[in-house]
Amino acid sequence: MNSQNLQQSHNEPESSDVPPAAEKEIPLPTNNRLNNFINENYSEASIEEWNDWKWQIKNSITKTDRLNAVLGNKKNDTIINMPENHLPFRITPYFAYLLSTLEDNHPLYRTIIPTINELNHIKEETEDPLNEINMSPVPNIVHRYPDRALFLVTGFCSAYCRYCTRSHMVSKRTSITVSNSEWESGFKYIENNPNIRDVIVSGGDPLTLRDDQIEYILYRLRNIKHVEMIRIGTKVPVVMPMRITSNLMNIIKKYHPLYMSIHFTHPDELSVETQKACNMLADAGIPLGSQSVLLKGINDDVETFKELYRNLLKIRVKPYYLYSCDKIPGSYHFQATIDKGFEIIDGLRGHTSGYACPQFVVDTSKGKISLLPNFIKSIIETDGHKTYLFRNYNNQEYEHIEVI
Ligand SMILES: *Cc1c(COP(=O)(O)O)cnc(C)c1O
Repeated sequence: MNSQNLQQSHNEPESSDVPPAAEKEIPLPTNNRLNNFINENYSEASIEEWNDWKWQIKNSITKTDRLNAVLGNKKNDTIINMPENHLPFRITPYFAYLLSTLEDNHPLYRTIIPTINELNHIKEETEDPLNEINMSPVPNIVHRYPDRALFLVTGFCSAYCRYCTRSHMVSKRTSITVSNSEWESGFKYIENNPNIRDVIVSGGDPLTLRDDQIEYILYRLRNIKHVEMIRIGTKVPVVMPMRITSNLMNIIKKYHPLYMSIHFTHPDELSVETQKACNMLADAGIPLGSQSVLLKGINDDVETFKELYRNLLKIRVKPYYLYSCDKIPGSYHFQATIDKGFEIIDGLRGHTSGYACPQFVVDTSKGKISLLPNFIKSIIETDGHKTYLFRNYNNQEYEHIEVI
């Protein structure tokens, strides 16, 4: 095929009648239910304000009285008087609306609203289970692996998950203001470490920063020659999807290759708004991965993950990691067993698209440890042969023979 032919075949799809997938806009809902919720709880707000992420942050629910007024009878055993230094709570009006549409005592309530269980601390739990404080050479950098570094650019988050591994950090910072100079030692550290080829920008939630701050961080990182890729870790598309604006996409697009890991917990988080946000991110060329935490009583069954992952693939999010829950103080009630993790992976692998199968990991002070259920039933070495007895996803045996 000569270059002219290549040119022609390349042009062909443009003349087709099928519109590209990117043009399918999901309209934002302005349904009666949402209007009623706004009228009842934010009567001064216009729909434009509702769809403005800064309004969402400013009007987030952080006080028990307000929580009771908005979600009142729907939530379960809230802590009324939280001890000093306890992880604060923060719920965007958007996420409060989403919760209000779910059934009473829906598991998502307990992921974000404090319950009395948090006050139960056991001795196996620690403030900083990943030992991030000691792995931090300069403020805001965690450097555990030689070739990649974690850059915690803000302690602020638009939602404080009750099992947050960085609760020790985020609880100390409830204000959204960060000044650019706070990042300087982090930039310098990455600049001076040519081994770092992958920077994970996380926090807190980096997407709670202003557009110009996000651009400043990406600009500085992109100008470091040895930084090959940048990643952003966020929960914003789930708890504040209106933050994903076309202006932000135009900024991020300039700094590719940029990946994004989004924290999802449950299929009921995938509202029309969240789907739209993920589609905008994917249309901006950002490869999307999901990170989930296996949580007892919240999402610890195969069907929940099958539905979550199937629906994530539909909005171009590839399940990346399924984490065992870190043992932060007050997390005992969330702890699922490692066997439960195996059960989830076993229920996915072979039973649904391989793309829907994340890696199950235990994150530790020694790095992430990736675990698989056992697919090897036995290994027998005889004269000249090594025979593996495997099992497939349906428990059928398969003999794999190596000649040695
Ligand atoms: C999770 C993590 C990374 C990234 O790990 P990947 O397996 O590459 O996604 C890097 N640094 C730290 C400190 C981490 O916790």
